[in-house]
Amino acid sequence: MFRVGVGYDSHRTIDGRPLILGGERIPSSVGLKGHSDGDALCHAITDAVLGAASAGDIGRHFPDTDPQYAGADSLELLRRAVAIVREKGYGVENVDAVIVTEVPKIAPHVERIRATLAGALGVGVDAVSVKGKTNEGMGEAGRGEGMFVHAVALLKSV
Ligand code: MG
Repeated sequence: MFRVGVGYDSHRTIDGRPLILGGERIPSSVGLKGHSDGDALCHAITDAVLGAASAGDIGRHFPDTDPQYAGADSLELLRRAVAIVREKGYGVENVDAVIVTEVPKIAPHVERIRATLAGALGVGVDAVSVKGKTNEGMGEAGRGEGMFVHAVALLKSV
């Protein structure tokens, strides 16, 4: 049996913080604000994985009001989400995500990000897709106020 889930996340951009996307540090003039490491890509994928199994969401499992998640490694939270859905009898089949931001360019870092996410998800690199997309200068993303990530995950009974 297959189950599909959707995830979305947004984080405000700030100066003076490293940009972490998909567990990888990306060279950038700005980072992402957040209680955790601000990894919006991991957060969106985590919600997609949990959602596919009707297993709640990232805020329920790893609340940002809990001090233990301050500066949390979001890749580890993703690993834990995969373990949660595994308990319910599902494994990840594939994941696709799009990062909406004007800068930095995502494409040069996609292969590194895919490999890291694949490790956390317990799948081959071919099962992980990540794309960067600008918002053509429009709106919040266009003004560089934040980064916005959409993700889908397909789970399969194991
Ligand atoms: Mg987030």
